[in-house]
Amino acid sequence: MSTVRKSAPSKQKIAKYWSSEAGQNMIDKLQTTHLIDLDKMHDIQGGGLDFCWACSKPTSRLEKCHIIPHSNEGSNEPDNFVLMCKTCHAESPTLSDSFYFWEWFADQEHYAFKWAHYISKQASNILSDDFKSTTSLASSLKKAKHDLKPVIVSGRYSDSTTKAMIREVIKHQNAPLGWKIDQDGAVIPDDDEQELINIVRGYRQLDLSYNAIAQKLTDAKFTAKRGYAVFSETAVKKINDAETIEDRTTRVIH
Ligand SMILES: [Zn+2]
Repeated sequence: MSTVRKSAPSKQKIAKYWSSEAGQNMIDKLQTTHLIDLDKMHDIQGGGLDFCWACSKPTSRLEKCHIIPHSNEGSNEPDNFVLMCKTCHAESPTLSDSFYFWEWFADQEHYAFKWAHYISKQASNILSDDFKSTTSLASSLKKAKHDLKPVIVSGRYSDSTTKAMIREVIKHQNAPLGWKIDQDGAVIPDDDEQELINIVRGYRQLDLSYNAIAQKLTDAKFTAKRGYAVFSETAVKKINDAETIEDRTTRVIH
């Protein structure tokens, strides 16, 4: 036996409901009863049709998502829907108790943080255990998060802001010697530094001491980005021990 059910409301209708006084009051009520922070739902008052309500990602391809699923007798009224991006829709829980939905929704991370995590992951994929044992990566990410917070609290923002944020995160990151982090957050070889590593290793094969190599590089006015205008013995040793593309390839294969 089947019952005739109303079809899903339009995206405009859904956005209109949550922007309305009734919708905004419902948000306040949900925050109190579930003890969660739904501040991001207040951004919908500006329209709510061009960004994901859960992760704030700007998109013109929003999906209508049931709060209580249709299969669990969820209604097709606007108050049982939110608009989300494809990724968030796929990740959202489908349970008959709306509490789980709203709890997940409140916790859903701002998409820019996902970028930060992506960058961190890229970096840690390539970093040596030695480097990972230092706290520099964790603390730089923490600092980046702190610095970015004022932007994130305001909810949605443009592509140019996103790019600026990624650059901000990168600024606080240090790739290992011989490598750099590009605009997309990937760790890639730094050609200049890779060349420097090869030069130092070449001299080492000729049995030159670190000190002698330091002198040669300084005399040749070899400019390095890490402040080795005058090369020290320690700096040269560090360069010699840095990972080259070949080392990396070997390490990954074995
Ligand atoms: Zn999303």
